[in-house]
Amino acid sequence: MSRARAGDRGGRERLVVIGGDAAGMSAASQARRLRGPDELEIVAFERGHFASFSACGIPYWVGGDVAGRDGLIARTPEEHRARDIDLRMRTEVTEIDVAAGRVRARDVDSGAESWTSYDKLVIATGARPIRPDMPGADAPGVHGVQTLDDGEALLGSLARARGSRAVVVGAGYIGVEMAEALIKRGYEVTVVNRGKEPMSTLDPDMGRLVHRAMTGLGITMVDDAEVTKVLTGDDGRVRAVATEDAEHPADVVVLGIGVHPETTLARAAGLPIGPHGGLLTDRAMRVRGHENIWAGGDCVEVLDLVSGLYRYVPLGTHANKHGQVIGTNAGGGYATFPGVVGTAVSKVCDLEIARTGLREKDARRVGLRYEAVTVESTSRAGYYPGASPMTVKMLAEHRTGRLLGVQIVGREGAAKRVDIAAVALTAGMTVEQMTSLDLGYAPPFSPVWDPVLVAARKATAKVRATAT
Ligand SMILES: Cc1cc2nc3c(=O)[nH]c(=O)nc-3n(C[C@H](O)[C@H](O)[C@H](O)COP(=O)(O)OP(=O)(O)OC[C@H]3O[C@@H](n4cnc5c(N)ncnc54)[C@H](O)[C@@H]3O)c2cc1C
Repeated sequence: MSRARAGDRGGRERLVVIGGDAAGMSAASQARRLRGPDELEIVAFERGHFASFSACGIPYWVGGDVAGRDGLIARTPEEHRARDIDLRMRTEVTEIDVAAGRVRARDVDSGAESWTSYDKLVIATGARPIRPDMPGADAPGVHGVQTLDDGEALLGSLARARGSRAVVVGAGYIGVEMAEALIKRGYEVTVVNRGKEPMSTLDPDMGRLVHRAMTGLGITMVDDAEVTKVLTGDDGRVRAVATEDAEHPADVVVLGIGVHPETTLARAAGLPIGPHGGLLTDRAMRVRGHENIWAGGDCVEVLDLVSGLYRYVPLGTHANKHGQVIGTNAGGGYATFPGVVGTAVSKVCDLEIARTGLREKDARRVGLRYEAVTVESTSRAGYYPGASPMTVKMLAEHRTGRLLGVQIVGREGAAKRVDIAAVALTAGMTVEQMTSLDLGYAPPFSPVWDPVLVAARKATAKVRATAT
């Protein structure tokens, strides 16, 4: 069927992309690199005002580290069009007709609808932020931070706010980064968190270190609490956030309680959806069972190489790689995305937070027995000025000593040290093999035994001691 359609267009195939950000436009750009406009027509639909932007930079834009919105735009629609990608902004795809190989799109401003046929389709619809279903959630002064429009609205709200009290709902990495941004703007910040510790991607003992540091920064942490409603003043703007047993005054509220894969279209089209709500693909990022449809980024589930399970890990680092793989395959080449080991870094002010691999509860869930060690070390040689404490937690498989996961909390140099562990996990190394890694050393950069190696030595000793 696809050849017949290409035949209708004089042999030129048409690639249609739904979603104009990281995954979608990486795919379109890579396909264009491999195949010129004479062979492949590329049509991309984006319902928003922006394409190819960095949501990752929003906390730093709001916090004033990054000068302006435009710095977060990697490539404008005009730049895409100059490369023969027909990017149609403010155009929402409302239906995928898999049998006929076409999508229906609606101009968001005029409401006009039309069908576009495809030979190859890329679904890169991203994620939908979770919005609490409670009174006042839509009140002026309550903001998400998913898009550049959200960032602009938040900055406008901060400029208009009557006072300087902010409540952040959620203590995952976005909540934590937004807490920093608001502190930098001079706000008194309260973080309301459903769990006991922030950063549930860490084990609780490591999350506790983040909690302590956030409290030390003057952030009020409200733990184990659920927001029940947003209270508004006479002018209709937010004035407080209510939890089960308290009210927290707020001139502005930022929501950072996670995202769901945006798979409404895919579901309606009967495409395969996994247990976490994301599209299921093979290693070439092809939607399972569909030769000419690919999907990537925040709308898919990914294989966790450590646990062997599919998970939902919505990160820009994966979206860009997925796009590259999809574009290569849709452009007639061959590439695969093997999976992830679960590496993520973030920070709150000068505290760096990093994780990769399995937490204790992940290891238990998949039936892996493990040894866990935690070491306290320093970022530089102890005698070198500016050395700061660093805590490294490491999990190794019982008996075999295979590295299972690492979490690091510290200051300068803590976050990117986790990349050592990400490589070791990918290579399937044991903690004993890690102890002899030839890592760089000089006093301004690390102690002679890098904190990760100190943890690997301690883990090795524990694996040996418990091996019988
Ligand atoms: C505040 C914040 C900070 C972040 N920080 C980091 C970080 O530090 N590191 C990291 O790795 N990741 C980070 N991320 C996550 C990262 O931004 C996402 O993983 C990445 O943007 C996913 O790219 P995507 O292309 O899959 O989806 P998206 O960026 O969500 O893009 C999907 C696009 O599809 C469009 N779309 C959806 N449905 C339709 C439709 N039916 N028709 C037309 N268009 C449609 C949407 O408008 C959207 O523009 C952060 C995210 C946020 C919000």
